[in-house]
Amino acid sequence: MNNIIGHEKQKEFLIKVFLNKKIPHAFLFVGEDMVGKKTLAFAFAKLILCDNNACQACKTCTDIDKRISPDLYFVSDENNNIEIDKIRAVREFLRLKSYSNKKKIAIIDNAHLMGNDAQNSILKLLEEPPENSILILITSFKEMILETIKSRVQEINFNKVSRKEIEEYLISKGTDKREAEEISIFSGGKVGQAIEFLNDVSKREFFSKTIKYLEQIKDQEFDKRFEYVKEIYEDKEVVFEVLDIFERFFRKLMFLKIFNKDSGSFKDYSLLEIKNIIEEIQKTKYYFNNTNTNKKLLLENLMINI
Ligand SMILES: [Zn+2]
Repeated sequence: MNNIIGHEKQKEFLIKVFLNKKIPHAFLFVGEDMVGKKTLAFAFAKLILCDNNACQACKTCTDIDKRISPDLYFVSDENNNIEIDKIRAVREFLRLKSYSNKKKIAIIDNAHLMGNDAQNSILKLLEEPPENSILILITSFKEMILETIKSRVQEINFNKVSRKEIEEYLISKGTDKREAEEISIFSGGKVGQAIEFLNDVSKREFFSKTIKYLEQIKDQEFDKRFEYVKEIYEDKEVVFEVLDIFERFFRKLMFLKIFNKDSGSFKDYSLLEIKNIIEEIQKTKYYFNNTNTNKKLLLENLMINI
């Protein structure tokens, strides 16, 4: 797990339960998207299943990377939903005998997208966990997971990774100092985002373009802002990126306000107004991700509130 950036306490905990042979049968990994929850879940699976300390090279490790390991089952959502059938398949999988004679591991990403019936099915599994099975639920919206599930799992919370840790990682990968600094700032503590920026210059350009847009948005009439919405609203991934960048932009503004520093074109805004905008962005994200509310309307509503 040494190749994972940050999350020292979380790693330490997982290694400890592994070495003491006291691995809980179910986990809930909680934290914002792209901070490294899924990466750590897969690394933990390697630690458990590999004969050679998660060597990264053996068939077990490479099969895990390719998601074809017979002892690891990975589930994610389809169109913002995890169907109960998928959970039934997880339950069946975990009841099978371990191929490697170790454990059967199931990882469910975006676990909050399980409906009530799917969550109840998980609950049954947690009430009578099959021998040698490990379930890892991953979520960025813990509030949407049933309390009865939460009381039966080992919760592990993930924070954002520090700018310094990301910067040092990038430098160790051969990025020059200036670029590493820029990417670490842009990625806002999200390792996954930093790696994406590193590998994809167009993403980084999109980021700085969006920031420039935000810097002058105050001078734009609503019809202009709606034109912007029209350009992006159909592409879910783009919308997520934009909302994420918006949130980071206003969070930074909030700190500038708190420390009485120059907040550029938003200098007339009070701290409370900035906080309200951040809340609006978070609400928009939530509704966009978890409901079928009209996406264009949602974004237009947000634009009016900035
Ligand atoms: Zn290995």
